[in-house]
Amino acid sequence: MLADISQNLWWSWQLDARELFHRIDRRLWEGTRHNAVQFLRQVSPERLEENAQDPISLERYDRVVRRFELLTQQNGTWFAGRYPELRNRPIAYFSAEFALHRSLPIYSGGLGVLAGDHCKEASDLGVPLIGVGLYYHGGYFDQLIGLDGWQRDSDDPVDPTVNPVVRVNGADGKPCLVAVTISGREVQVGAWRVVVGRIPVYLLDTDLEANDAGDRQLTARLYTGAPEWRLRQEWVLGVGGVRLLRALGIQPEVWHANEGHAAFMFIERMRELTGTGLTAVKAAEQIRATSVFTTHTPVAAGHDVFTSEQVEQVTGPFWNTMGITRDQFLALGKSGGDDRRFEMTVLSLRLAGRVNAVSARHQEESRRIWRWMWGKKPVADVPIDHVTNGVHLSTWMARPIRDLVAKSLGSDWELEAEPAAVAAAVRETDDDRLWAAHDSLRQLLFHYIREEARVRWREKWKDAARLAGSGALLSPAVFTIGFARRFATYKRADLLFRDRERLRRLLTDPSRPVQIIFSGKAHPADDPGKRLLQQVFLAAQDPSFEGRIAFLEDYELHLAHRLVAGVDLWLNLPRVPLEACGTSGMKAALNGVPQLGTLDGWWAEGYTGQKGWAIPRASGGTGGAGGEDGDTDQRDMEHLFGLLEEKVVPMYYDRLPGQHSAEWVHMMKGALTVAVERFTTRRMLQTYVTQYYVPAAAGEATPGDPPL
Ligand SMILES: *Cc1c(COP(=O)(O)O)cnc(C)c1O
Repeated sequence: MLADISQNLWWSWQLDARELFHRIDRRLWEGTRHNAVQFLRQVSPERLEENAQDPISLERYDRVVRRFELLTQQNGTWFAGRYPELRNRPIAYFSAEFALHRSLPIYSGGLGVLAGDHCKEASDLGVPLIGVGLYYHGGYFDQLIGLDGWQRDSDDPVDPTVNPVVRVNGADGKPCLVAVTISGREVQVGAWRVVVGRIPVYLLDTDLEANDAGDRQLTARLYTGAPEWRLRQEWVLGVGGVRLLRALGIQPEVWHANEGHAAFMFIERMRELTGTGLTAVKAAEQIRATSVFTTHTPVAAGHDVFTSEQVEQVTGPFWNTMGITRDQFLALGKSGGDDRRFEMTVLSLRLAGRVNAVSARHQEESRRIWRWMWGKKPVADVPIDHVTNGVHLSTWMARPIRDLVAKSLGSDWELEAEPAAVAAAVRETDDDRLWAAHDSLRQLLFHYIREEARVRWREKWKDAARLAGSGALLSPAVFTIGFARRFATYKRADLLFRDRERLRRLLTDPSRPVQIIFSGKAHPADDPGKRLLQQVFLAAQDPSFEGRIAFLEDYELHLAHRLVAGVDLWLNLPRVPLEACGTSGMKAALNGVPQLGTLDGWWAEGYTGQKGWAIPRASGGTGGAGGEDGDTDQRDMEHLFGLLEEKVVPMYYDRLPGQHSAEWVHMMKGALTVAVERFTTRRMLQTYVTQYYVPAAAGEATPGDPPL
């Protein structure tokens, strides 16, 4: 039975299941970085035998099995209770990345984490979702940083032997293959399945013997390589994804494209519909009525743009099978007046009738950016709405915090309790207990950082400065700030370094010292991002900061878990309005870690004065495209230092020796309550279901006018 459980990633958000593995062999569990498949391969039979005699483990085991068996029943879930008639009518969810577990490196950051959390929540709520993505057998990349602070990338391949992935077979027991024509060549596409609770996720793969060597590499890597390469991958995802579902006999009722990467699925469905005799116009209407599109960033580089030649080269002459001309086909993705630009977001906006941004702030920005597609209608009439992102509570709230809530709501609260009840439980929690829980998570983080440094020191580092820079000198007694995210320049990891002397004074204050932990990868093609990273990395080794800055290599899910729960303050400094939402601050808040940030993305909604701190918006104007803006950076930096020096640090240290600050714990509770009430995937997915999926399945009219 444990083996069955390990084959469904459901265990990864079940506290009991994880505790079970932990209790069987703690060191092995840590050593595999919480990977159940690998764990069961390596655990000794004696350990398992011993454990089978242990009453605590047995009881836990029974509980896990009982819950696991409930997964096969759809009855009793939130969705089945409300929409019994839609129970068996699937929603296809296409995404170029899914972050499900650290051992499956098919994600690069926030978009993937969101998709993974979306699937987990769909499982909890019983929403009949089916995920479709790509199987990047070469993975994303491991971050290796040279002595000079320059990021070098090394491979981080997917290892199918330590992952619960299986090849998808057809009814005949042979691998299920579909064909997709790319640049005039027929390429075979197979798939792997990974099961996330009740939700299957299909990952497409061209690495098959039937394909030639070049085509086998098509799906090998995430977001690396030239645009043509990306384009081919997206063609595989969109066209291959629809064909795979059909080959498996799955007929989705609603189709959701998570970001523009998946937009070619609309094109394949247009081919299907025109093939049944519909005109292209009627087909497009039908696709719009049943499709949802989520746009994820206002940053131009985040939107795939290809040239019409590239599109023609890869996809042509697909239009012949759709009953339209080449020009009509290319016009679907044509952006602005430029005949040569083919943009995936534009394609999605034309063919999905229900469109959302990922925060209220991002909705404003998206309407402004895409207004031209509606003939410059007033912004209020542009039919782009928003569903603010959320995070999956059971994935991101650490055990000591969950245990506190369980004290008042009982052990099944995560599935059952209403957000308001959870918030009330948090408010009533004893301050000392909350602080003790937080403190235990801090200790865990510092332990983790030390042990990681120890291993790297032993195995690869020759240089002692590396050791200091990686956090070996951090002190558990010192106020700790966390900043972990992709190193893109607009996220401004360098804001504090604009005044190094002031930063040095802040960090090395003898009575109220401060330390900062940084982590994050730069995109392999982003040299400005890499320079930023280099600056932070080298500062961490600069003795004048006295070891109070750390840079942790290789930010990924596992490290993210430790960080968001173990620091005292989360720092988020995007240049407004470029952060569409941001989710790491929500993860921190779910663990009682307040945020200090610019009023962008989710923080423009979440900040209310009692739950953290905000850098006020620059007066006058919405910020527009938000390019390089030295004045804004300077101003935001002044505010940032001011808040830290005058408000945040004094509040944290307003305490007697060995105790905690009452005001600070009050702030922690504020962060926790706002997160459980408003920023979980529970609220997010329920909104998608009630306002997007169900109306689409019911054939309700789409909001607003279609674009011109
Ligand atoms: C949550 C998360 C992100 C996204 O965080 P942002 O706040 O959106 O930048 C990126 N990477 C990992 C590993 C995460 O866990």
